[in-house]
Amino acid sequence: MTKYVFLTGGVVSSVGKGVAAAAIGKLFKERGFSVSIQKLDPYLNVDPGTMSPYQHGEVYVLDDGAETDLDLGHYERFIDTSLSQVCNVTSGQIYSHVIAQERHGDFLGGTIQVIPHITNEIKRRIRLVARSTGAEIVLVEIGGTVGDIESLPFLEALRQMRSDIGRENTLFIHVTWLPYIGATQEIKTKPTQHSVRELRSIGVSADVIIARSDHAIGEELRQKIALFCDVEKKAVIPLPTASLLYEVPLLLEREGLGDLLLQRMGLRARMKPDWSAWEKMIATDRESQAKVKIALVGKYVELLDAYMSVREAVRHAALDLKVDVEMVWIHSADLEKGKAWDELEASQGIIVPGGFGGRGIEGKIAAARFARENKVPYLGLCLGMQVMVIEFGRHVLGSEDVNSTEFNRNTPHPVIDLLPEQRGVDDKGGTMRLGLYPCKLVPGTRAAASYAVDMVEERHRHRFEFNNTYREILNEHGLLFSGLSPDESLVEIAEFKDHPFMLGSQFHPEFLSRPNRPHPLFKGFIKAVMAHAGLEIETPVEEAEEGF
Ligand code: GLN
Repeated sequence: MTKYVFLTGGVVSSVGKGVAAAAIGKLFKERGFSVSIQKLDPYLNVDPGTMSPYQHGEVYVLDDGAETDLDLGHYERFIDTSLSQVCNVTSGQIYSHVIAQERHGDFLGGTIQVIPHITNEIKRRIRLVARSTGAEIVLVEIGGTVGDIESLPFLEALRQMRSDIGRENTLFIHVTWLPYIGATQEIKTKPTQHSVRELRSIGVSADVIIARSDHAIGEELRQKIALFCDVEKKAVIPLPTASLLYEVPLLLEREGLGDLLLQRMGLRARMKPDWSAWEKMIATDRESQAKVKIALVGKYVELLDAYMSVREAVRHAALDLKVDVEMVWIHSADLEKGKAWDELEASQGIIVPGGFGGRGIEGKIAAARFARENKVPYLGLCLGMQVMVIEFGRHVLGSEDVNSTEFNRNTPHPVIDLLPEQRGVDDKGGTMRLGLYPCKLVPGTRAAASYAVDMVEERHRHRFEFNNTYREILNEHGLLFSGLSPDESLVEIAEFKDHPFMLGSQFHPEFLSRPNRPHPLFKGFIKAVMAHAGLEIETPVEEAEEGF
């Protein structure tokens, strides 16, 4: 029988409920259980693929091509298990499914209602995770905070599930926020009490409370929350803000949450948790290290969540190479206005991440030119690879009109063009080239050396690609196509011959980077950044990233 852990949020959002869910998954995994994690998002979009990064942060892509909430990135990074589309469910999916059934006549004249039709569909989707993955423990995180109108059907479905499958098989964790009042220097528990009460008013009582705070939480406060919220003191788990999010499982473990969860669910650990690798990672982060600056030139830099996986992938490689990376966030439109160039010039590496639409594109192209001409290490991620090709195309062909048809439909030199299967596609949702595709590495290239294998599979999310008409001429001038689709029809990785490291991939390597297993391309890039900054690399260079 699968056991379910439900996570709800209280007081405010953005307190790290997703990281908490991911870390709890890790606690179970370290005890020998197979784990899967699902996010239920109460909004009406079918998926976040059509949402602006300003609204929703990064769109995280899974192996099967599902466009999901960025919390799934945390889940995968912590439990190191590939998730699938059943792991991200939205109200939009639930309602459109139920309405399609109604149109089909499946309800035989019945009136379709939130209870039971919508709640039944929610419960079916939750059970689907266990059924399709075989996970023994399924964690389910509900987006938003208790009290939101949209999340009510989800909470009701969870309440029903508890009576359907029994208390011993379900556990509710409520993640709340304890505000700090500067004037009196006090941490307050009242909002937590209110949100626990709100939860109880809809029939759900929290078994465990994770109390998030920017400050240390003493025993007295723990006792107070226990008293007012009707949980045992040991079930109140303080979680002060960690400097590195990979510390969170260790903090939860230290507070006894792992053992408490097993005890409450009648489980016995299959193995003793071994935290040595994670502890080493945290220690590395704390040790004083040589510093480098990496500029990320993007257009959503006001909201750093838009680049969550890129940031984490850089961090994984940096921890592995024992270097302290400072990210410098540069708005590409600023470069167009002649601003922020000093920051770009002071950086030892440049990343141009994914993106859509023409705004700020010339600033990214200018950054690529700067990297090529000054031999500054450059990593292009999807759009970043396209930008690198456009810039070089302009240089080789001697024309400023070289472009992608995404930004200039009538360019005489479309070095980047629509994928053939994208022609005539009008719908925006779920229609890009999405998910895992194989990529063959060309021997003797930097890409092949970084991966140290012949073939890889990487996650995609794009409509445009390199236009093969320009392969020969750009190659003659020094652009190598170091990663290709197995039939060689698609360029997956491009890099420069005469440059310490200027490489772009049509896919998003950041989605497959894991703590303690940095992505080879990010690692190759950071090594080049360190060399550019004149730093020594501690890790032996011959160490191949095998098994990736
Ligand atoms: N806009 C580009 C395309 O659709 C790049 C997409 C991306 O960076 N993910 O091809």
